[in-house]
Amino acid sequence: MSPARDEHEGGCACGAVRYRVSGALRPVVACHCSQCRKAFTNYGAFTAAQRDGLTIDGEHAVTWFDSSPGVRRGFCSRCGSALFFQRAGKPYTSIAAGTLDQPSGLRQVRHIFVADKADFYEIADGLEQLPEGQGATVWPNSEQWS
Ligand SMILES: [Zn+2]
Ligand SMILES: [Zn+2]
Repeated sequence: MSPARDEHEGGCACGAVRYRVSGALRPVVACHCSQCRKAFTNYGAFTAAQRDGLTIDGEHAVTWFDSSPGVRRGFCSRCGSALFFQRAGKPYTSIAAGTLDQPSGLRQVRHIFVADKADFYEIADGLEQLPEGQGATVWPNSEQWS
């Protein structure tokens, strides 16, 4: 499959939640914040999709948790897989990249909130590391992802 294809599918570990994305996915960002540490057992790797291109099958099985003001995280009520992250007012939904069917064709590009990472591992892949979020980061097609 071509890495440039713009149709993707994914889902949780038990299969109760499946989703489809039509349109480009953002490159993957690894988030080491304390919320991701707990939700993902270590850190969260996220891609993102425009909300109008994301179709969730089995959304009744998704529980939404308000993890911080203006932010909600969606996980499967049955198996606990962390799936989605939405910030109020943003036109996109972040998707846990590990839930994508493989091959995803994506690449990880940076680490964020590394100041909050757990102390039992090192980041040694040479990618950019930001101590906090990526608010001022300029993305390709940045109007979609900022
Ligand atoms: Zn599940
Ligand atoms: Zn995080």
